[in-house]
Amino acid sequence: MRGAVTNINTIKNFMGNARRDIHNEYLFEALQAANEALQKQIAQEVQNVYPTKVKETAIYKLTGDCPICSAPVPVEQRYCWSCGQRLDWSKNRPIEKKWR
Ligand SMILES: [Zn+2]
Repeated sequence: MRGAVTNINTIKNFMGNARRDIHNEYLFEALQAANEALQKQIAQEVQNVYPTKVKETAIYKLTGDCPICSAPVPVEQRYCWSCGQRLDWSKNRPIEKKWR
C-alpha cells in the first residue's frame, strides 16, 4: 500500500514539476483521488484513547478519536464511521487478537 502511495506521489510530483499538471488536468486529478483513497487504507493510530462505560452495564470499553477528523470511535471499529480512515488500535489492545 505504501509503495503505491509513493509511486502515485512520484508521478504527481513529476507532472507538477514539468508543469504537465496543466496539460493533463484529468490525469492529475485522478492521481490525487487515488492518493487520497490509498491514504485512507493505511491504518492511522487512534488518538486520546479512554475507557467508556457501556450503557446500563458494568462493562467498560475503549473509545478514541479518529486521527484525521477527531470523531469518537469505539474500539471494535476498523474504520472511522465519519471519514472512512482505517484505524490502528494495536497500541491500545491489551489482549492480542487477530484481526485484519
Ligand atoms: Zn475520521
